[in-house]
Amino acid sequence: MLDGTEISENLKKNISLAENYLKKFQGRTMGHFINGEIVDGKSENNFQNISPLDLNTINEVNNGSPEDIDMAAKAALKAFPAWRNMSGNERYKILHNIADNIVDRAEEIAFIECLDTGQPLRFMSKAALRGAENYRFFADKAAEAGNGLSMPAVDHINYSIRQPMGPVGVITPWNTPFMLSTWKIAPALAAGCTVVHKPAEWSPLTAMILMEIMHESGVPEGVINLVNGNGEITGKSLTEHPDIKAISFVGESKTGSMIMGQGSKTLKRVHFELGGKNPVMVFEDADLERALDAVVFMIYSLNGERCTSSSRLLIQDSIHDEFIEKLSKRVQNLKVGHPLDPETEVGPLIHQQHFDKVCSYWDIAKKDGAEIKVGGHASEKLGSGLYVEPTLFTRAKNNMRIAQEEIFGPVLTAIPFNNEKEAIEIANDVRYGLAGYIWTKDIGRANRLARDLDVGMIWINSENNRHLPAPFGGMKSSGIGRDGGDYSFDFYMETKNICVALDNHKVPILGA
Ligand code: NAD
Repeated sequence: MLDGTEISENLKKNISLAENYLKKFQGRTMGHFINGEIVDGKSENNFQNISPLDLNTINEVNNGSPEDIDMAAKAALKAFPAWRNMSGNERYKILHNIADNIVDRAEEIAFIECLDTGQPLRFMSKAALRGAENYRFFADKAAEAGNGLSMPAVDHINYSIRQPMGPVGVITPWNTPFMLSTWKIAPALAAGCTVVHKPAEWSPLTAMILMEIMHESGVPEGVINLVNGNGEITGKSLTEHPDIKAISFVGESKTGSMIMGQGSKTLKRVHFELGGKNPVMVFEDADLERALDAVVFMIYSLNGERCTSSSRLLIQDSIHDEFIEKLSKRVQNLKVGHPLDPETEVGPLIHQQHFDKVCSYWDIAKKDGAEIKVGGHASEKLGSGLYVEPTLFTRAKNNMRIAQEEIFGPVLTAIPFNNEKEAIEIANDVRYGLAGYIWTKDIGRANRLARDLDVGMIWINSENNRHLPAPFGGMKSSGIGRDGGDYSFDFYMETKNICVALDNHKVPILGA
């Protein structure tokens, strides 16, 4: 796997464990999970799931047809009334069972995820556990999902209740597939909806493990279904299916816009978590050591394949040279390697197509006149895998493509600014509006910037730190709607108002 590179004992051990876990997927075509069982696809249309480590085929996967989607949607529709009417306390038990079983299989999930996506083990081991936490969090909220408001008036009492929408579609990307699917599926189930999941075609493995876990944990037949396949056929059919009431989608902005069009005929409710080009603003009065740690972490962790990555560093002129020097050393020092090596900080990129896209930015940066301070090329020493050197572009201008486009790799674009006014102008001058990071000790300035940044989530003097009840989502081309806590229930449920007369108001009389 790592041609010509020495392999540590820890890595050898992990590779052998991972290969063992992988066996159940190899040598057979992975189908779908519909109505409580694994089924073959209705069509013979299959695709290869390729390893980012060495470009070998891991397994073959069926490309779900419209008939497969129809079967899954019908199963979800049939299962809906019983699941909707189950008490919150019963759903609580099942969702906690799922969390327990995820924890029991956390190593397997983490190792498979590393091989399928190229994400380093140091992050994926936590991703499986975060998946379990998502189930626990929404399990605990299941009993209150239907809660509404009491709104008394003079002659009437109004009260609202929330009810699950019905079968919903969940479409997820490949960057942290297991964690993201739990983040979407757990609240849908807690709310009382049934689900058809279409995972990303570049990383299908852990989604099937999640189906096994949910089935074994007591989720009834048809409540959760999975159809593998690409976006053009499988994803599109799901978004167009009349029995599917809403689509919860995580992925690229341009796909979100396609889904909105596809779902328009059946008036789908949509929730979109899309791309980002998130600024991290570092002012001269910041704690520069902590800021440096956070800047490095927020773009080079998870291979830079992270929607909330701080991919634009806005750095004040007065500290520019000193900060960039320190940053360059840290970037040069990052350990690129096999994802199962516990020492690895940056692994291979997910797919040849994505690798080519990321690598195309070396020339774009040069052509636009930015400086390639670190990296700017593939890591050939690691063999045939899709490894790139962590890269730092400096002296960029905000109108350059490297400052405007989501590269989604371990690539940081640094842009100098002079003062607060200029910083906010640069920060807001992109089509995206997902997240922003502010580093300053001036409380007034931090809060002014937080108010004026056109993004859905802001961290002040912190890296991305997720609190499950807090709203998660973006503005502008970064998304529609919010996840987290009660926000997730608002998406998956209908709010119904009930108005009751106190029998003392005057009813209008006609035709008397
Ligand atoms: P993508 O949009 O290419 O694919 C995402 C999913 O959509 C896949 O399952 C794909 O098969 C499916 N799809 C593609 N075309 C479709 C269609 N026409 N109809 C229905 N489904 C379709 O995204 P990706 O490349 O897999 O993921 C990377 C993107 O995801 C980045 O832009 C990243 O920022 C974004 N992302 C956002 C968040 C967030 O919370 N905002 C989180 C993670 C990733």
